Amino acid sequence: MATNCYKCQEKVVEEDLYYYQEQRVCEDCYMELLQRPKTCDVAAVQMAKKHRQKTGQTGTDGLLDIQKDIYNYILEKEKATRQEVMAALNISDLELDKQIAILRHCELVKGRKEGNQVYLVSFDY
Ligand SMILES: [Zn+2]
Repeated sequence: MATNCYKCQEKVVEEDLYYYQEQRVCEDCYMELLQRPKTCDVAAVQMAKKHRQKTGQTGTDGLLDIQKDIYNYILEKEKATRQEVMAALNISDLELDKQIAILRHCELVKGRKEGNQVYLVSFDY
């Protein structure tokens, strides 16, 4: 049974479905969503960025513990799926999205598509 992608309305078969904030999306839309922080996170991201610039922080300086944990986990594994990160750190989909948006803006983590799978990798992977 196929479902329509929440974003582009394309028909997607079950195996190619991704969940983004509890919405079913196709792989392409998922990648796009992953690369683009949501508007509601912009303030947090900008604050984090400004704060880091002002205090001359680099790397994981000034990140929240949860953000460091995600980053370190991804570094350790080289690449990790969202599911792996969520399971390893016991965080929700929403929480992961929020933190990944910030890590992405600090240029620490990015999404990367390999075959049928989307991985989170370090920014210079
Ligand atoms: Zn789509």
